[in-house]
Amino acid sequence: MAKVIKKGALPVFVARNTCRDCRSEVEYTRADVEGDQREGNYVRCPVCKALIAESTLKWKAKS
Ligand SMILES: [Zn+2]
Repeated sequence: MAKVIKKGALPVFVARNTCRDCRSEVEYTRADVEGDQREGNYVRCPVCKALIAESTLKWKAKS
């Protein structure tokens, strides 16, 4: 087993988007992505429960 000199951490990726329906600004992590065969991958607006296509999110590492 290799020896750890300085431990790093995997970055947490977040994406922000504005809900088309209720205009809430929301922030998502990868854990918020749901999906099914019919809708594809999506995140759900926590305010109005509308679906936002995951492909419209721009992910970036949280600093
Ligand atoms: Zn909404």
